[in-house]
Amino acid sequence: MSYDAYQNEKLGFTTRQLHAGYHPQDNRWAKQVPIYQSAAFEFGDFARCERLTFREEQGFSYSRCSNPTNKVLEERIASLEGGTAALSFASGMGAIFAVLMNLAEAGDEIITVPTMYGESVTLICDIMPSMGITGRIVQDPDDISAFEALINDKTRAVYIESLGNPLINIIDFKELARIAHQHGVPLVVDNTFATPYLFRPFEFGADIVVYSATKYLGGHGTTVAGLAVEKGDFNWNNGRFPQFDKFRKNGTKNIPEEILSSQLFTLRLYQRSLSLFGAHLSAQSAFYILQGIETLSLRMERHAYNARAIAIYLSKHPKIREVSSPVLENNPYHALAEKYFPKGLTGMLSFRVRGGKAAAVTVLDNVHLFDQMVNVGDSKSLIVYPAVATHFGLTLEQQADAGIYPDTIRVSVGIEDIEDLIADLDQALAMI
Ligand code: PLP
Repeated sequence: MSYDAYQNEKLGFTTRQLHAGYHPQDNRWAKQVPIYQSAAFEFGDFARCERLTFREEQGFSYSRCSNPTNKVLEERIASLEGGTAALSFASGMGAIFAVLMNLAEAGDEIITVPTMYGESVTLICDIMPSMGITGRIVQDPDDISAFEALINDKTRAVYIESLGNPLINIIDFKELARIAHQHGVPLVVDNTFATPYLFRPFEFGADIVVYSATKYLGGHGTTVAGLAVEKGDFNWNNGRFPQFDKFRKNGTKNIPEEILSSQLFTLRLYQRSLSLFGAHLSAQSAFYILQGIETLSLRMERHAYNARAIAIYLSKHPKIREVSSPVLENNPYHALAEKYFPKGLTGMLSFRVRGGKAAAVTVLDNVHLFDQMVNVGDSKSLIVYPAVATHFGLTLEQQADAGIYPDTIRVSVGIEDIEDLIADLDQALAMI
């Protein structure tokens, strides 16, 4: 058996989701990635200690910074995403915060949108301002010129989600990346709802991709985790990012130039967020995310198939006011979905019931197969009331901007038999 698969980037997505980044020969021929449950690693002798410290040799010394199990996960996601490097974090929020703090310093600005996971909006617009970093919100994310209007000398990133949570809105990535790059600003995309199987943001101009790996990547609701991936060709030397020039001068001795130029963002992210802030994922958790990724493409096909069927079913139901899913032809994002998501959309969708909050609560409390939970991307179907459970940190106005009303319900459609899911929703809607 040849194990070339661990580093062959030409192999298909499903082959790489099983093999990329792992070679059994390096691990006593264990076929499954071992969990390196070790806080620290022996140097062996002083000469090796020096070589590792001064980066003359690759290796591991302390799990707060790097661990062999995490390394496989990081290399695997970089391969699936088409990036040069990745790092794993203790949560999606940990990854998002670390990435933004690598880009912006006090006095800088980040441009973002209201149609996102509520905690990300809160982080950028309420928490980061207390650190001197201003979050600027584009009120209409469908209007790309509105992003450009907010770009100024202080802008350090445009931050969006590939599929907004919970509206499932789509921004014209190519156009947005073009505008951002014209001004020397990187585009950061949270690709949690799509995963690299359905959408690869780097192919459409993104520079950094972040994940809540807790969701579809892990896929089984077992583990909280985050990932950050770098594309590797952004010019950090364009005058907007003096912190990277400083890092290059002071912190990168003995790193080969080809690594420095294609992984500069990740190297600095590593030094700050893992070494200094201590935000690394545990090896045990990295193992669970790796297990999930092994079946990612198969699960995403089924999630997308089931969610499409449910969107169509709901769109015809008399007790439903509106369904937010770009798979529907009358959805404002249908054309962008066809352009950017030819393999299908996520398992996520939201809908509004007729009868306000009381009707929504009736559905929530009467479904049997959909569990009421804040999580998404589990193989099992989940349902939630976003105004209280996921976007509670936002004002009513911010919630409306994100497509959340008192009658909104969000579902994360699992991979169960579709007939069972539709029958369950049907009986719950009949209770209204
Ligand atoms: N991004 C999106 C789109 C999410 O839905 C979430 C959580 O629900 C996060 C980021 C945060 O991820 P985590 O819960 O792993 O910190």
